[in-house]
Amino acid sequence: MNLGRHQRNCSVCAHQQREEIEAAFIGWRSPASIAEEYGVADRASVYRHAHAFGLFQKRQRNIRAALERIIEKASEVDVTASAVVAAVQAYAKINAVGEWIDRTETVSMNDLFDRMSTPELEAYAQTGALPEWFKSTIGTSE
Ligand SMILES: [Zn+2]
Repeated sequence: MNLGRHQRNCSVCAHQQREEIEAAFIGWRSPASIAEEYGVADRASVYRHAHAFGLFQKRQRNIRAALERIIEKASEVDVTASAVVAAVQAYAKINAVGEWIDRTETVSMNDLFDRMSTPELEAYAQTGALPEWFKSTIGTSE
């Protein structure tokens, strides 16, 4: 990755609100809506910038923000009920370092996020849908 070449061609790098854009990405805002709000050409530009600066890894670690997005979105869009239930339960129980503390077992949410594929993470960012295996691991039936 040639960072200098990226910066010369990147509209996000040159953007006056670059820090806000990066914070929005790390906060699990959808790249399409980030592009629209900040007048960036398209979501691919947001993705390229995020890749160049390692923002995917930062976003992946920002689990509480991901859960907040789901809980917020529940009133706006058609997030599945089970995803909302899972998010609320997870948010209530997750600690500051992303560990899920339960009576019987400790599940690291960071490990679960690491196991999610890129398409699964994107689906989560866009719609709040969690993979089935994820929900069964954190035990939404409780
Ligand atoms: Zn850039």
